[in-house]
Amino acid sequence: MPAPEPLTLDEDKPASRKWLKEVLKPARAGLREALLVSLFINLLALAVPIFVLQVYTRVVFSHGVSTLYALLIGVVAALVFDFIIRQARSRMLQRVALRIDVALGRSLYDKISALPLRTLEGRPSGFWQTLFRDAEMVRNTFSGSAAVLLTDLPFAVLFVAIIYVIAPPVVWVLLIALPVFVIVSIISGRMMQGATKGERQAGIGRDAFLAEMLQGRSTIKALALERTIKPAWEDKHADTIERALVRGGRTDMFSNLGTTMTMLTTIALVTTGALAIIDLRLTIGALIASTMLGNRVIGPFNQLVGNWRNYANCRQALKRLDTVFALAEDRTERSIRLSRPEGRLTLEGVSFGYEEGRPPVIDNLSMEVKPPGMLGVVGRNGCGKTTLLKMMQGLYAPTGGRVLLDGGDISQFSRRDLATWVGYVPQECFLFAGTIRENIAITDPEASDEDIVKAATLAGVHDYVLDLPDGYATEIGEAGSRLSGGQRQRIAIARALLPDPPILLLDEVSGNLDMQAETALRNTLGELARDHTIVVVTHTPVLLRACNNIMALDRGRIAMGGPTQEILPRLFGGAPRPAEANAEAAVEAEQKDVALAASAEKSS
Ligand code: ADP
Repeated sequence: MPAPEPLTLDEDKPASRKWLKEVLKPARAGLREALLVSLFINLLALAVPIFVLQVYTRVVFSHGVSTLYALLIGVVAALVFDFIIRQARSRMLQRVALRIDVALGRSLYDKISALPLRTLEGRPSGFWQTLFRDAEMVRNTFSGSAAVLLTDLPFAVLFVAIIYVIAPPVVWVLLIALPVFVIVSIISGRMMQGATKGERQAGIGRDAFLAEMLQGRSTIKALALERTIKPAWEDKHADTIERALVRGGRTDMFSNLGTTMTMLTTIALVTTGALAIIDLRLTIGALIASTMLGNRVIGPFNQLVGNWRNYANCRQALKRLDTVFALAEDRTERSIRLSRPEGRLTLEGVSFGYEEGRPPVIDNLSMEVKPPGMLGVVGRNGCGKTTLLKMMQGLYAPTGGRVLLDGGDISQFSRRDLATWVGYVPQECFLFAGTIRENIAITDPEASDEDIVKAATLAGVHDYVLDLPDGYATEIGEAGSRLSGGQRQRIAIARALLPDPPILLLDEVSGNLDMQAETALRNTLGELARDHTIVVVTHTPVLLRACNNIMALDRGRIAMGGPTQEILPRLFGGAPRPAEANAEAAVEAEQKDVALAASAEKSS
């Protein structure tokens, strides 16, 4: 059985950076301009040392005041120009950052949205969130100080060459110091990498825990779990703090080391220069100018010590993004525009497993359901009913066999087509913050009021909505939190009905409905089943009785299946079908776990 696509970092796999090229494309011109401007900025850095050298050689000893003024005007003009082009470079880099941000944010969103559900479920939500932090890291490296630094470094060679010309006795100090800076940078990168990775992982763990706590806040409150949960939270929080401290400690250590090394290099330059002046091999002006230039050389190398970790982090971020951008996507493009299908759903020897090496959850299952028809699916918890529905909607690709829609393998249809043709109401209905209208029309915001009201009426929620002071404009709060479970469920049903899909899959949707709503739903489904295909996972007799056929699942296989009038009595061990008039008693009698009856039937 093929395993779901792994989401691991493969260090040896050559990275495909096509996505990065695409992302950098709109920023490329800006980057080139910024690099060109950096060239001028670095050349202008020569202005002050040249000024100092000239003052010492042409002004101080020869009392050339007019030369001094000329030099002063020249150097001030150079500094003003330097300020202007530095400002220009900042703006260019801001534009580059903006373009990278827009392009990368959009590509990443599109990529994550296009990933199959199983791939998304394969990692905690924190993992997907931190990818956006990785995107930020890439943006900062390509458009921030790290990028500027890379443009400054090559000029070190030029400046060292100039120092060699104006002050040969001191140049060897730099020739020794610079490689030391590079070695320390590499060591810092290595030492920081582990610390940064640890901090990142601890952060993901803590954020995931926090997200879960917030999601389960009502359960935590209801069971007063604050104290039970606190030690786990504190562990995670402490771990994050500890790792941040380790990382911060190392960052500070290398930053301080860089500062000390910078000062040591200046001292070495001045000491060597002073000895050379005593030996009359160097002038004071040349020493001052070369010290200034030396600092200009060391500055970027000092920054390199701090920034190496950013390059290493960016490399890691790029690798993670490479892995994600290389993942297979759901089909997003339709190859041909097909008309609305009739609604014949066929499963041919379909199998599915969540984990390799574990027994399949759906095991070689074959069946067909077509309109007019309503199929009831029953079975004990965990027997694979939800998984089966998700496969019918194309959310999970079978690991064996095929799912066909009107005879065509559904793997060829785009996600959007499948979502339009196969309506799916999951057990846990998720609504989005916004109005009731927006939620019902979320798949088609242009839907007419008439269609929205029709869907809401079919779902049995129209009267309730009309009763609200703001009607369809009522804000339902975060994830629909201002609504009751049953109201949420009915709005989710209306949302699924809006595009009038030929196939409708409902997973335990009556769990939160009152008896009246359940009966209304049964009537709606019975009506729809005349020209739609309906598959309903349910244990309630009210809905089961409206089905034409019933299929009992057991460990991913069909334990029993056939027309309702045949299967329903067998599910209840041949008990007489309760009279409709005695509905309440009937519900009580039938609300035993029908799945248990199904398996009992199977074993007998
Ligand atoms: P049912 O809807 O019949 O209660 P499900 O289809 O939800 O059952 O689950 C079938 C089996 O698959 C269960 O044993 C469950 O533990 C397992 N399962 C469901 N979802 C996942 C998942 N995302 N990852 C791993 N196992 C899962």
